[in-house]
Amino acid sequence: MRALPAPLLWMVLKPLQKLLAILLGRSLRKWWVALPDNRRQLMHVWFRRRRWHLAAGLGVTLLILALLLLTHLDESPVTGRLRLLVFSREKYMELAVLTSEAHLEEFAEQLLPVTDPLHQMVEQSVQLLAQRNKDIPEVSKVPWSVHVVESSQINAFVLPNGKVFVFTGMLGAVADVDQLMIVLGHEMAHAILDHSAEQASLSHVVDLLSLILVTAIWALCPGDSLALLGGWAKDKLMELMFNHPYSRKLEAEADQVGLHLAAKACADVRAGPVFWQQLDLVDQVTGSPTLPEWLSTHPSHRNRSGQMDRLIPQALELRETCACPALPPIDPRAVFSKTVHELLEKAKEQGVRGLEGTHEPQSVSTPAGLAVSQNVLASSSKVDWLNKDRVPAVTSPLPAAAGKESQHVLQNTSQQGS
Ligand SMILES: [Zn+2]
Repeated sequence: MRALPAPLLWMVLKPLQKLLAILLGRSLRKWWVALPDNRRQLMHVWFRRRRWHLAAGLGVTLLILALLLLTHLDESPVTGRLRLLVFSREKYMELAVLTSEAHLEEFAEQLLPVTDPLHQMVEQSVQLLAQRNKDIPEVSKVPWSVHVVESSQINAFVLPNGKVFVFTGMLGAVADVDQLMIVLGHEMAHAILDHSAEQASLSHVVDLLSLILVTAIWALCPGDSLALLGGWAKDKLMELMFNHPYSRKLEAEADQVGLHLAAKACADVRAGPVFWQQLDLVDQVTGSPTLPEWLSTHPSHRNRSGQMDRLIPQALELRETCACPALPPIDPRAVFSKTVHELLEKAKEQGVRGLEGTHEPQSVSTPAGLAVSQNVLASSSKVDWLNKDRVPAVTSPLPAAAGKESQHVLQNTSQQGS
């Protein structure tokens, strides 16, 4: 039996710590309420007399805490950003080994054989990304291995130990190998930048501070139901103020570094913004419920596309220094926006004719927007994951994705992200 890695141990102990904080706060409140008036008066006097001692104690504690945090600062590879790492990379690697073993067991029945053309395509892309970026120590020291999972989820994730998991749903959602390289670059960036360790470090510190708040809430709120409500509000506030903005920041950084890795691997980086525009378009026309960005752990598809678009000139410059073959003169971004524009015009015309009662009977049942998106994806990006039975069918240049029902998830769990 192996000992649990420290980050996992903390995850297991977290609910117990919270329960202890609640019990402590609640007991303090009960004790105070039960105290006779004269004893309470005496306590007030005691606190007032020692207020400077108490303030000094608090100051020293804060100083020690600040020193502890400062000694755990670490420089992020590639970007050089300073961040807090409470758990060491080695500890996190142990956790990654456990996690990848669990995933391999979970997906054992759904893994595509290594001889499958889809597996080989992902394998080649990952090896190309790793080979062309081997000057980055975090890339060259990890043995990258690929596992393609037969599942309709549009998702992919990479663990810090170099295990790359790609779902066939994702292979159905990318239009070409360039988009795939950008998605893989993003996921590999999460791994080489130790984003999971960084996120766990932040939530560790936030959780410790939160224990003090939980104790205070349960001690100060007049009743249990109010304390429960206060605790819930505190959780939501911390999520919106710390966890979600931090997660969005890491996603934006992975987009930036992923584009950098893909550019060095000679991908057509201009395909990056198109991928996010495709997803945005699909959301719009299918009316998929999308959370406002501030409620979400990921930036919105539109913002991701916009942010990536701004990084393209720099990525193209980098690509030019890497002895890559010249890019095709036609920009995929221009093709995409032209196709969307033309099809929207066509749909508008059909809509006007439809109002005059001259439209074809079959278009009555098809919302114009849906038809537009189907056409755009079929013609400009060669992906069709919006047809009636939602079978992803990539026509070219990817081998046909053998997906079943396609759902749009691009989700994030504690260890995986898109
Ligand atoms: Zn991500």
